[in-house]
Amino acid sequence: MSDTDRKNPGDEDASGTKQTGENICPTCSGSGRISEKPCPDCGGSGRITAIVGDA
Ligand SMILES: [Zn+2]
Repeated sequence: MSDTDRKNPGDEDASGTKQTGENICPTCSGSGRISEKPCPDCGGSGRITAIVGDA
């Protein structure tokens, strides 16, 4: 139950997976909030895990 294992709806893959990187959440633009509520895509962190590999 560690934070690094948690996957948010906006994550393209699990954190720590090969060819992934941290990106600003496009849903909330990194604020972590939408209309004063925690952003559902990033879980309020303002960042998502995105796949950066080009293969
Ligand atoms: Zn967000």
